[in-house]
Amino acid sequence: MLTDDEIARQSLHATRFTTYWLDSLPNAHIDPPLERDIHCDLLIVGGGFCGLWGAIQAKEQVPQRDVVLIEAFGIANGASGRPAAIMSTSVMHGIDNTERMFPEEVKELERLGKENMDEFRAAVERYQLDCDIEWNGEMTVSIGDQGLEAIDEGVALYLKYGHDAKKLNKSEVQSEINSPIFHAGVWSKKRSGTVHPGKLVRELKRVAMELGVRVFEYTPHVANKRQGNQIIVSTPHGQISASKVMLATNAWAAGHKRIRTRVSAIRDRIVVTEPLTDEQMASVGWRHRQGIYDTRTQLNYLRLTKDNRILFGGRLGYFYGNNTDPTLDKTPEPYIRLINAFYQTFPQLKSEIRFSHAWSGPIALTTRMAVHYQRYHQGNMVFAGGYSGFGVTASRFGARVALAILYNQDIPETKMAFANTQPNYIPPEPFRWIGAKITMYALDTVDEKGGWRKLWVKMVEKMGFPITL
Ligand SMILES: Cc1cc2nc3c(=O)[nH]c(=O)nc-3n(C[C@H](O)[C@H](O)[C@H](O)COP(=O)(O)OP(=O)(O)OC[C@H]3O[C@@H](n4cnc5c(N)ncnc54)[C@H](O)[C@@H]3O)c2cc1C
Repeated sequence: MLTDDEIARQSLHATRFTTYWLDSLPNAHIDPPLERDIHCDLLIVGGGFCGLWGAIQAKEQVPQRDVVLIEAFGIANGASGRPAAIMSTSVMHGIDNTERMFPEEVKELERLGKENMDEFRAAVERYQLDCDIEWNGEMTVSIGDQGLEAIDEGVALYLKYGHDAKKLNKSEVQSEINSPIFHAGVWSKKRSGTVHPGKLVRELKRVAMELGVRVFEYTPHVANKRQGNQIIVSTPHGQISASKVMLATNAWAAGHKRIRTRVSAIRDRIVVTEPLTDEQMASVGWRHRQGIYDTRTQLNYLRLTKDNRILFGGRLGYFYGNNTDPTLDKTPEPYIRLINAFYQTFPQLKSEIRFSHAWSGPIALTTRMAVHYQRYHQGNMVFAGGYSGFGVTASRFGARVALAILYNQDIPETKMAFANTQPNYIPPEPFRWIGAKITMYALDTVDEKGGWRKLWVKMVEKMGFPITL
């Protein structure tokens, strides 16, 4: 009889170690790199959700503004082409994290989150973004009885801040999704759901360009300096002079000598099955197709794709020097443990399901777990990032506030603590690597083995890293 690890290895036999979201689309049209010197009003660096939403909103606010966006590789090269893409209302990585970080501002941040999601939805409709959106809600499920308290706390928090929330007991949650380890759930149906992030990012590029944004791909920002009232950005084959610059480089910012004192580039991993047959779908249930998070210490998240594949994610990794593209993640080994968690969740699919894709993506982790702003060149260049694993829609909000900071707009958001404070300092290598390695190992094994791992996870959280949120 084969062990679970052996079954998992077999299931990865024909897997493509690349993001399903981009692999399932026709090849993207790549816009040519910059090959001359140019000028613009606003330069945006980074072609993910944050940069693209920044470009679109900058044009919506002032249509005659000359906006240029440069991307080091192709659009969606970063986290935006690789998430689970479960959409949540919060702009600060969940209500519990908002309470932890900004207890005085939770109510307003929750209101801003709802406003952001409503504006996101209005933009999807206004620009007719073709991106497989399903507004089916998000659900947190308790794994066994250990997570029951977390579910009750989740329900209370949702209701306290005016969200809809339905608590489900064991039989109700299992009639939604047929997993024997789900013992309760909380389902918030409004303002949340799932989206195809690869389609969304390409559609955002289309809209940005239709609004007049000039996009240059394969054009990395190499250096910048202040010259008079301009910022001069060098790229390999041309210079850009701009009055304002927004850095939307997310995890890559960990390569910047000052930004990286607050940002660490970690990886999170995902596997995607082949499309389920009708019988397999019937065995799983999942009629309402919610995006799901669980209460494991190292959280797993899952959702369905339009063609009924199960996406299952959540296994963190860190590679020395904030490596944003490790070769190890293009081999089966790092995904075996994740697939074992999949088998525990859906034992009815074990042995018969294959995984078509497995990949990892870069996450900009800070002690805040949500966006922060770093100001350079007297506030004319702003880094906006650090969304952790919670930025598909929050990055629209993050980019809006970045523009307000850059253009000194007199709006309440720019006076709030989240816009004016920094996350904690993160030590450099080799301490970063050593700390991350022990933490990742503890997270991988704490639920089965407990012991020192529990103490370690608690200590890391006390130091300001909310790694189990
Ligand atoms: C595995 C995984 C699962 C996730 N799941 C979810 C989820 O379910 N829900 C959710 O809300 N969020 C999720 N996220 C988080 C979400 O994907 C990110 O927060 C979001 O995509 C961040 O967008 P961004 O534009 O800030 O960064 P990115 O998409 O990473 O974009 C940064 C871009 O900057 C470019 N760049 C870097 N350096 C340079 C340079 N020098 N010059 C020019 N360009 C440069 C990069 O190539 C990249 O394209 C997940 C992330 C991962 C990795």
